[in-house]
Amino acid sequence: MSSKLKLRKIRLEDMLNNNIWDVDPRPHIILDTSKCRDCEYKPCIRLCPVGCYVSHGDEVLFSYEGCVECGTCRVICPKEAITWEYPRSGRGIHFRFS
Ligand code: SF4
Ligand code: SF4
Repeated sequence: MSSKLKLRKIRLEDMLNNNIWDVDPRPHIILDTSKCRDCEYKPCIRLCPVGCYVSHGDEVLFSYEGCVECGTCRVICPKEAITWEYPRSGRGIHFRFS
């Protein structure tokens, strides 16, 4: 019997599809977009793992609904443009690893 461990590649999209969201109608992340225009590299666009930040010319469009609450944007924003808190109790993402 082979003792080789078989690794299965799982796409990020497939992992995320296992989760469910109970979106809080009150946004848990507030973005001060007036600060984004002068943000040179706009790291949130590249570093949010689920694409909540999208480039739109000089502007940044943001939607909080698909947020996986990793906190990355809160840490990397150089302009302190983000007011971040967890969704209200029981709301937001419910992780299901399978
Ligand atoms: S990193 Fe912060 S300031 Fe820069 S574009 Fe993103 S949210 Fe705006
Ligand atoms: S907390 Fe994470 S998933 Fe949510 S918007 Fe910020 S970077 Fe994206």
